[in-house]
Amino acid sequence: MLLAGRATRERVALPASLHTMSDYYWTIETALGPSFIAYNERGISAIMRAESGAEFEQAFQAHFRRPVQPAAEPPADLAAAVAAYLAGKLSVEQARASLPFDLRGMSDFDRAVLLKTAEIPYGEVRSYTWIAREIGHPLAVRAVGSAVGRNPIPLLIPCHRVVRRDGRIGEYGLGGTEAKRALLAAEGVSPDWLERLARAGIRYVGDATTRIYCFPTCRDAKRISDGESVGLGSDDEAVALGFRPCTTCRPSGILSVESAAPPSVPRA
Ligand SMILES: [Zn+2]
Repeated sequence: MLLAGRATRERVALPASLHTMSDYYWTIETALGPSFIAYNERGISAIMRAESGAEFEQAFQAHFRRPVQPAAEPPADLAAAVAAYLAGKLSVEQARASLPFDLRGMSDFDRAVLLKTAEIPYGEVRSYTWIAREIGHPLAVRAVGSAVGRNPIPLLIPCHRVVRRDGRIGEYGLGGTEAKRALLAAEGVSPDWLERLARAGIRYVGDATTRIYCFPTCRDAKRISDGESVGLGSDDEAVALGFRPCTTCRPSGILSVESAAPPSVPRA
């Protein structure tokens, strides 16, 4: 009786939504093969690879400590948004509007890291250092790496687009470096090219005419013609050569480029 009474009190004390909100899943085809995607009333809660539905249900329960069950039919709008996102057909803004995430149970820091990761556009990469600076914790690069490694919703929170500061591809939880390379290649980013730049010490690309510098994969950098492209090894080098950071990809912490007067470059 005592137990029953306690159970009743707990049930009353908890918000009703915790009792009615269940997770469901369906399978999706991804560049890494079939994967399982779970969602609830709050949004998408997980993506995992597994050999079978049963294996996925077990892994989900072990990780989130709540059950998940197959959906009779996934919500049409959500399934369409997932497919469009994976095909690179949604802008960051469209994705934010149509792909809600359930990141309950994560720390504010982890959530900030993951939501910032979600802002990296299809076909582009950013570094752990960039995320750390963007979320206002420039020195917490290692913690950013750990938070990215805890991403419960890979592919839709595109942690495969986060690379090492020196440009090397780095680790990937959902299948290792090879899987990360395959995902990037599927988005039109050549991992070989990224690593060639890394080996050459090139972290940024500057436009000799506009004097603006970018991450090499920034959509603005792709418009620089070959003859105008300048490889840059660091923010310091870029600034010393009279380049200003791109406001789209924000390669440096200098956000207010208007107020940051570039040093005058002596003429030859
Ligand atoms: Zn840029």
